[in-house]
Amino acid sequence: APRIFSGMQPTDGSLHLGNYLGALTQWAKLQDDHDALYCVVDLHALTVGPDPAALRERTRRTAAQYLAGGVDPERSILFVQSHVAEHAELAWLLSCQTGFGEAGRMTQFKDKSAKQGAEGTTVGLFTYPVLMAADILLYDTALVPVGEDQRQHLELTRDLAERLNTRFGAGTAVVPEAHIVKAVAKIQDLQEPTAKMSKSNAGGKGVIWLLEDPKKAAKAIKSAVTDADESYGVRFDPAAKPGISNLLTIFSAVTGRDKDEIAAEYDGRGYGYLKVDLADAVVAFLEPFQARAQTYLSDPAQLDKVLADGAARAREVARPVLDRMYDRFGLLPRG
Ligand code: ATP
Ligand code: MG
Repeated sequence: APRIFSGMQPTDGSLHLGNYLGALTQWAKLQDDHDALYCVVDLHALTVGPDPAALRERTRRTAAQYLAGGVDPERSILFVQSHVAEHAELAWLLSCQTGFGEAGRMTQFKDKSAKQGAEGTTVGLFTYPVLMAADILLYDTALVPVGEDQRQHLELTRDLAERLNTRFGAGTAVVPEAHIVKAVAKIQDLQEPTAKMSKSNAGGKGVIWLLEDPKKAAKAIKSAVTDADESYGVRFDPAAKPGISNLLTIFSAVTGRDKDEIAAEYDGRGYGYLKVDLADAVVAFLEPFQARAQTYLSDPAQLDKVLADGAARAREVARPVLDRMYDRFGLLPRG
């Protein structure tokens, strides 16, 4: 089966509905016919200097959400990035193959560093895409499920893999492909439906957090920005009606119902009816999700054991790949 690698950062208290629909549900599906590795990328989170106690908590919470979202540690390798030291080791090799200007062209770095200011911008934030390339190349990964915002980083990863093969001989690295899943629900911010729902909008009220009080989520749905349209027309039309279209996307995703069928049911009745029923549907989705996550969080020793098993299995894949690269780079065998 083709090998697939994906990870999310343990930033913030929980993942959001966009992460669930855009990533987790896909991951759960992919494990059937792929050799899947799913990682909580805690080393990446260090680029923004989280509080140590909070980071520890977030890492477990993120792993619990992967499990609650259907990642099955029997069928996939579920682990924490920092438990497999080979990620950091390969990142060093790759950083010595990455041009300074090349890294400087990454738009996510430009955006994030502009927000942090020169003093708040760490070297780690700059080399983040190199660590991401290491995450992927370390497992001879064939496929990487990526959202739009990571596409440029995957391109860098592919460039690096090709460069290694040119400089150190064919077969040094596997060149990964983007795995594009069609019909992935892209969820927009509830308060700003032309922007995507994102962790970085944490200040806003337009995000549905997977572990928040479902009452709050219901409230966020009810106060979602809708479109000024006298006719109360409900139809899926993201250009003309971004707010309503986003609510239809969410409605469809959490209930499995067809968007157009939902639209027909509420068309002309006023947005309030749609919002009330959607709020109920979101609560009905969140409650069992949270109950599942809670079973993992209530037994941290067991959760840590699952993660330790995953790390051991990940290391078995990673070590020979890294040894091959060390050898190609001309580092002496450690004997
Ligand atoms: P940040 O603001 O830090 O970029 P984010 O909320 O965009 O955070 P990521 O960690 O970048 O989250 O993304 C994790 C995964 O979730 C990726 O696969 C990404 O494509 C997916 N994802 C993120 N936001 C959405 C969204 N609004 N709709 C669908 N998928 C999403
Ligand atoms: Mg993002």
